[in-house]
Amino acid sequence: AQEEEMMRIAIEAQKREEELKRQKEEEENATGVIFLTFDDGPTSDSTPQILDILKNRNIKATFFVLHYDENHEPLIKREQEEGHTIGLHGYLHSYADVYTSADTCLENFRKIKEQVYQTTGIESKIIRFPGGSSNVVSKKYCEGVMTELVKRVVDEGYRYSDWNVDSGDAAKPKSEEVVYNNVINGIKPGRNNVVLMHDFAGNHKTIDELDKIITWGLEQGYVFRNITEETPMVTHGVNN
Ligand code: ZN
Repeated sequence: AQEEEMMRIAIEAQKREEELKRQKEEEENATGVIFLTFDDGPTSDSTPQILDILKNRNIKATFFVLHYDENHEPLIKREQEEGHTIGLHGYLHSYADVYTSADTCLENFRKIKEQVYQTTGIESKIIRFPGGSSNVVSKKYCEGVMTELVKRVVDEGYRYSDWNVDSGDAAKPKSEEVVYNNVINGIKPGRNNVVLMHDFAGNHKTIDELDKIITWGLEQGYVFRNITEETPMVTHGVNN
């Protein structure tokens, strides 16, 4: 029985390796790679709609989640079951709470990591700093905190992802056309494009444009991927 088990594990590993090789070839032949990322969820109104669109198009994405109550656990489970990456954005989002010190911020990640682990059994290692690693708002609460954090999160076994395409969907007065144009003008061939979007409540701008953005990307010859531990991370420069 032990030999059978070892054989099964070896076959699984081989299958995984072949799949990774296939994906890599696909990426090399593509115009570029698009990583759709959704921050600040889960929420009951936006997250299911985004998941439906992604499922319909068979596209995997990355969700950087915040603390959720038990009513939202099924959404986290659904993200996992449908093959998306659950990244950590923090237990809390408010800069005043998060960036008091590097220790506070690390604790903020540890708490959301623990919650995601309780829900999914997965120990998530991929994080996104509230405001991104280049944020300057943190200076108001702790001088130099980002400089310390970008080193310490790596020591703690995390990898942090910023973005190189901003959909602008968090900006209040902008229309959904602006979101669409920001994304398609921001995406460049021959690189990993990490697109910042949000699944906070009431984000119609992204929900309404997502399917169109996917159609555009596929027509242009891009492939869509979720961020994994193997993905080369897109990171900003630190300004505090
Ligand atoms: Zn955020």
